[in-house]
Amino acid sequence: MKILVLGSGQLARMMSLAGAPLDLIVKAYDVGTENIIHPLTGEIYEQDLQTSVDDVDVITAEFEHIPDDVLELCCKSGKFYPGKQAIKTGGDRAIEKALLDEVNIPCAPYKLISEKSHLIEAVATLGRPLVIKTCQAGYDGKGQWRLKSDEQIDQIWSEMTDFIATGSTNQPHTVIAEKMIPFCREVSVIGARDKYGNMAIYPVTENEHTNGVLTLSIARELCEKIQSQGELAFKKLATKMDYVGVLAIEFFDVNGTLMVNEIAPRVHNSGHWTQQGCASSQFENHMRAVCGLPLGSTELLRPSAMINVLGQSSIPTQVLNTSEVLSHWYGKSQKPGRKMGHINISASSNEKLGTKLEALAKILPQSDYPGILKASALLKG
Ligand code: ATP
Ligand code: MG
Repeated sequence: MKILVLGSGQLARMMSLAGAPLDLIVKAYDVGTENIIHPLTGEIYEQDLQTSVDDVDVITAEFEHIPDDVLELCCKSGKFYPGKQAIKTGGDRAIEKALLDEVNIPCAPYKLISEKSHLIEAVATLGRPLVIKTCQAGYDGKGQWRLKSDEQIDQIWSEMTDFIATGSTNQPHTVIAEKMIPFCREVSVIGARDKYGNMAIYPVTENEHTNGVLTLSIARELCEKIQSQGELAFKKLATKMDYVGVLAIEFFDVNGTLMVNEIAPRVHNSGHWTQQGCASSQFENHMRAVCGLPLGSTELLRPSAMINVLGQSSIPTQVLNTSEVLSHWYGKSQKPGRKMGHINISASSNEKLGTKLEALAKILPQSDYPGILKASALLKG
């Protein structure tokens, strides 16, 4: 089968790698250049979007910020999964929050803001500190403000109006204020739903962010209470959206109770460990779901972890020389803080995974990965 992925970054690349053994052939649409390209080599195909849409069997997406006209064209073909509504929901925090409220899943208390008086009201009703986020276009913690005191209101409002002003009638820009949640950790749940409503859900992943960017994910057996809350939220959301493909949900763990942070209608960075920790990775299961194939196993084979390589020029040789550590390098141009690749680590026990993370912490720059030593100590018990 032939699949067109909207977006041509590392997620399309890894879908292509995962699809190949099943003869699922992936092409990618670069939204910036409007070229159809090979997701691994970057080779440009002499094909426009409409021709490619007609040519493939299935269309999917690697991100949610897709221009409306592209989304329309793909939806018209009847081949697009997970569908326009799911993409819109993941790409707009206001729509996302409305969905969470509708299916009664707890999330951070919030207020939508389009005037200064709304911001003042948000401070009065939600209290301080607040996390203020653009509803559209945010990623990796970009497009966010932290409001800790009333003195910041004027400054943040003036920066917010700049964002609101760049919206258009077709694509209005709005902002949301959220109560700052005092979580004990962040976790995510990733799973797949097929066209017939079957679902396969991976074990809950624990995530560590540094400066708003994911740096470390760990997958190990967690208590049943956390897993079942995550699965329930997944099932409610995926069913409500009649979702097809892989869906990711980020949560705050507040003393054992999960609260949704956000949802991503796609494969997700916190699920990269599945490439090594499960028989079927999130990329393979996404391909299977959108292509109408049975879903693969999401069982955790061995405790696993993933470290994002941010802004580096290459993966250190010592990392490449470490056993049970597999490196993925995306071939992107180097920029400070950019996700350049990731490292997956597996071991036969939590303790051994902790020892491996400790060894990696000695190789990787400590300033970029402050959470690794803490995580390794936790795993070693
Ligand atoms: P990404 O695309 O990497 O998931 P994002 O730009 O979509 O990031 P969020 O996930 O909403 O942004 O926020 C980034 C991080 O900021 C969260 O992982 C969390 O650490 C922190 N954060 C966001 N909202 C809140 C909140 N309401 N309370 C406490 N911390 C928050
Ligand atoms: Mg997030």
